[in-house]
Amino acid sequence: MINGIVYLVGAGPGDPGLLTLRAAELLREADTVVYDRLVHPDILRHARPHARLIFAGKSGGGEQVAQDEINATLIAQARLGRRVVRLKGGDPFVFGRGGEEALELAAAGIPFEVVPGVSSGVAAPAAAGIPVTHRGISAAVTFATASLSGADPDWDHLSRSPTLVLFMAGKKLAEATQQLINRGRSASTPTAVVEAGTWAHQRVMQGTLATVARLADEAELGTPALLVVGDVVALREQLAQLGAKAEASRAEEAYS
Ligand code: SAH
Repeated sequence: MINGIVYLVGAGPGDPGLLTLRAAELLREADTVVYDRLVHPDILRHARPHARLIFAGKSGGGEQVAQDEINATLIAQARLGRRVVRLKGGDPFVFGRGGEEALELAAAGIPFEVVPGVSSGVAAPAAAGIPVTHRGISAAVTFATASLSGADPDWDHLSRSPTLVLFMAGKKLAEATQQLINRGRSASTPTAVVEAGTWAHQRVMQGTLATVARLADEAELGTPALLVVGDVVALREQLAQLGAKAEASRAEEAYS
């Protein structure tokens, strides 16, 4: 029997325009698409009408599909000879358990290919007007997660990174920001929370390390969201204004 193949594909941060061309091409050819909760519904329109769409949404609450079950589905579909696209939010290898899925596929003898995507770690701050590095302000960025089962973050290390992007911070915002302050990061460090970056309903809560958890609480922060800590956050107003001006002058040109 001929084995199919599994493509571990990054779907980008949300906005369907940020899907890669390679991802769109593979979706058009897929027999089966196994997709996450963080994948924008319009992205699935690239799939053929008869492709089998399987939801494998893992989330902090609500509907859950166990990782074992997802692995088993990928393997079973590939063994039926199908071309399987495993669509994951952002980049498959950035806190997406793509590595684990790849290892399982390899162990089962299923051919696979990894297709990188635009990670929300870079794209969500950008969509909020925050460059994760900036000459003279931040020459390093650390991507970390507040909740990778088993391992407690190394708060000492994280507190020293010029820019820190913390994934899956939602429920742990108060704890995370307090930890960073306890390890010596200034309470007045510019800090933002970006919710649903690049989605139409994107929201940004901006304050300091000391205030942002309360701001997010008051705004009833939803998911997905990430925390951005560092002086780069203060560039936001400036860049947002410049961006708005560019939009306005383009609009003027269009009318003149
Ligand atoms: N592989 C993904 C991350 C998966 S972990 C990537 O590269 O982007 C899921 C976490 O990613 C969420 O809890 C949240 O912290 C972050 N996230 C994903 N999409 C996001 C978005 N559009 N805006 C803000 N954070 C996002």
